[in-house]
Amino acid sequence: MGAISIRDVVKRYGRGATANQVIHGVNAEIADGEFVVIVGPSGCGKSTLLRMVAGLEEISGGQIAIAGRVVNDVEPAGRDIAMVFQNYALYPHMSVFDNMAYGLKIKKVPAAEIRARVDKAAKILELGALLQRRPRELSGGQRQRVAMGRAIVRQPAVFLFDEPLSNLDAKLRAQTRLEIQNLHRELRTTSLFVTHDQVEAMTLAERMIVMNAGRMEQIGTPDEVYHRP
Ligand code: ADP
Ligand code: ADP
Repeated sequence: MGAISIRDVVKRYGRGATANQVIHGVNAEIADGEFVVIVGPSGCGKSTLLRMVAGLEEISGGQIAIAGRVVNDVEPAGRDIAMVFQNYALYPHMSVFDNMAYGLKIKKVPAAEIRARVDKAAKILELGALLQRRPRELSGGQRQRVAMGRAIVRQPAVFLFDEPLSNLDAKLRAQTRLEIQNLHRELRTTSLFVTHDQVEAMTLAERMIVMNAGRMEQIGTPDEVYHRP
């Protein structure tokens, strides 16, 4: 269960007279299993909103809950989310397998379970033949897939994507976008995906949140947002 509830959320950076309000009362209810894209121009507050959902940024007002649990009441280690960033820092000295397995080893997940989860993720992401390689022996797109694999093996209730395709060239971006769609078809994990790219938003979103200057201007399916019949 990974429903996300965002209620009257406000964010200010700084305090007192110099405070800068960058999120002005955002409301959204995201259903379990839904793929929602937050789209809008650079600086409109997308990343701030995503980081608040992740519990990485303090909320100035309102409330965010995942599966009925208020994000800021939950210890970081107990938050059932995995985030995929634009800059996917892989461990350079570790194999692809170990990069994906590392977080699970820390959590003392049994070795057989780790192997099963990594194999499953590798199959979905077509990384099966690359498990013994080091990151430097991979293409940019393959590295981004390993970063996604690392998120998948955690089996989180929610995936948070912060412009994960921005560093890829056009061809890889299109290919990785397809992989993210396949991934969602397979796992149906609730996903919140941030991008400034409208085409990316339209092709990936089940529903999209259109933001501008810290406000949510629209929420709906791509057809609703672009008024297509
Ligand atoms: P987006 O992801 O849409 O590009 P951000 O959420 O990164 O937008 O930024 C929204 C606004 O908040 C911008 O005006 C940005 O300058 C400001 N901002 C972001 N992070 C910080 C921070 N750590 N301290 C102060 N201001 C910030
Ligand atoms: P590691 O981050 O070294 O793989 P853990 O899985 O124990 O080890 O994670 C340590 C902390 O970082 C935990 O609070 C966990 O929730 C958080 N964390 C690790 N990976 C991610 C991720 N991809 N997205 C969000 N949080 C993460």
